[in-house]
Amino acid sequence: MRESVSPELEHMIDGYRRFREHGWTPKLERWHELGEGQSPRVLIIACSDSRVDPAQIFDTDPGEMFVVRNVAAMVPPFETAPGLHGVSAALEFAVQVLKVKEIVVLGHGMCGGCKAALTQSLQGTEPGEGGFIASWIALLDDVRPPVVAQYGTTGREAERAMEHAGVRTSLANLRTFPWVSSKEEQGSLRLTGAFFAISDGVLHLLDETTGAFHPVD
Ligand SMILES: [Zn+2]
Repeated sequence: MRESVSPELEHMIDGYRRFREHGWTPKLERWHELGEGQSPRVLIIACSDSRVDPAQIFDTDPGEMFVVRNVAAMVPPFETAPGLHGVSAALEFAVQVLKVKEIVVLGHGMCGGCKAALTQSLQGTEPGEGGFIASWIALLDDVRPPVVAQYGTTGREAERAMEHAGVRTSLANLRTFPWVSSKEEQGSLRLTGAFFAISDGVLHLLDETTGAFHPVD
């Protein structure tokens, strides 16, 4: 152990000790099982936002969900050009190797990435000044105009419309991956849009036939 750690890491290590006591030791059998391999049935695409931890929201145990988190819970479209396709790599592993049965795209309220896509506040900035975020959330450029036309660029209504549009965009992009859409057509994989409203802690599911999000009872 290092001699000195930051107060931030010290706080995390306190949590780790609680985990060893309450999350590791009482579940040794399950952990040993997981040591043999993982077989999660669900892939979750969520935002990196500290308030929307899928394992907490869905109260899952280790081994249950394969999770990808990034700014605004985005999935890029299927692309074969050389590049650092981190989301596509995780998607490929989850769908083709782990053979998950369900992919959930989990958007959330008060999403800073979606807000920046809405206001275009980071456009033209340099890497390190917002440029990386700007080019990532440009994935939402195509769905922005109808949101702006209906709600403008400010206020919670506009922001929420953009957050919902982000979930629909990631679902649409997931379906550009040929092996995702073929498995969905065959019925061996389901895709679901979801939204977690931070203000009241309520999970909503997207009804893709109407495009509306409904709260879960
Ligand atoms: Zn977010």
